[in-house]
Amino acid sequence: MAKTSARSKAAKAAKPKSGHAKSGHAKSASPLFGRLALIGLGLIGSSLARAARLRGLAGEITGCARSAATRKTALRLGLVDRMYQDPAEAVKGADLVVLCSPLGTYADIAARMGPALKKGAIVSDVGSAKQCVIRDVGPHLPDGVHLVPGHPVAGTEHSGPEAGFAELFQGRWCILTPTAEVPAAATKRVAALWRGCGMQVAVMDPQHHDVVLAITSHVPHVIAYTIVGTATRLGNEVRGEVFKYSAGGFRDFTRIAASDPVMWRDILLNNREPVLEMLQRFSEDMAQLQRAIRWGEGEFLHDLFERTRAIRRGVIAAGQAGSFIPNAPAAAPSESRGRSKPRRPARSRALSPARRRRGPAAK
Ligand code: NAP
Repeated sequence: MAKTSARSKAAKAAKPKSGHAKSGHAKSASPLFGRLALIGLGLIGSSLARAARLRGLAGEITGCARSAATRKTALRLGLVDRMYQDPAEAVKGADLVVLCSPLGTYADIAARMGPALKKGAIVSDVGSAKQCVIRDVGPHLPDGVHLVPGHPVAGTEHSGPEAGFAELFQGRWCILTPTAEVPAAATKRVAALWRGCGMQVAVMDPQHHDVVLAITSHVPHVIAYTIVGTATRLGNEVRGEVFKYSAGGFRDFTRIAASDPVMWRDILLNNREPVLEMLQRFSEDMAQLQRAIRWGEGEFLHDLFERTRAIRRGVIAAGQAGSFIPNAPAAAPSESRGRSKPRRPARSRALSPARRRRGPAAK
């Protein structure tokens, strides 16, 4: 168990380089939570730690990770005050616990930390499906502890504690899915945390969340995994050409299909029904499109492409199409990432005035 004080490093880690502070929210006068415990310090957990440090949202932060390497890195970067291997140790005395690990780990973590939670604590998470959180975590929480599941809809294709950056959540949406019996005050406090990180917050029924995310995120990943898989099964000669001419559209699928296998296995297995329903509809629409191509129905194709172009414009108008640079045009972020090289100083790149003028690098 690592237990090193990392206070001064923390302040340094979260401190924006010159010019950064303007784009973020001001540091809050008093922290929203005395003690914040983060279970998982990867892309999302470390970004939340950085944002919480930067904006003074938590008095102190404890963390938990599976591997010694991640625990050491989190301390070195000053993301947390103390780091533990055992979730029960990490959540002791915490006012808010946020699960930031793959969905498949939740039930076990909840069973281990449940008895150590203090009365009045709030448990939340960042997982990409929500009904399964209520199913897997809820039963392990003692009376007087409130579960407010959450999903910050923001990400990159990278992972691990070094891939995170405080501005990841800026301008994006966070969806909270508390059940009816959760006190409104608990939901409000979690909403305040994410607003403090620069997010807009929506409260939604968990089942509705899972349907919406199935079509906006989960099925697109299934399609990307499939098309890249199809390309790899082509004959040698064609397969070589696939890389050479990937700029024709294929490369965008490869970025999504580079997403972390564990995270995406867990998402698809934990949001099975909505994903299968959307895939069924997709297959029907695909069959219709195939038919239109076969029979030369140009008008059908043109009408569809007109409608889809309008959707893209709607996404841009909603401010959800660009990079993580506030108000900048360009490459779309996604909920995908792999254990590839961490993106270099996303934070300093993201907000450097020079960079803003040039525009962001495409992923
Ligand atoms: P990540 O970078 O791979 O980090 C996962 C973290 O969880 C690591 O610190 C890992 O520790 C830790 N962990 C794994 N198993 C654990 C266990 N049994 N006990 C304690 N810690 C454990 O993943 P991420 O991208 O941050 O994703 C985390 C969650 O965020 C997922 O539930 C995902 O659905 C959700 N999410 C992801 C995105 C995205 O774009 N990535 C966007 C929105 C929501 P080690 O490093 O020691 O293994």
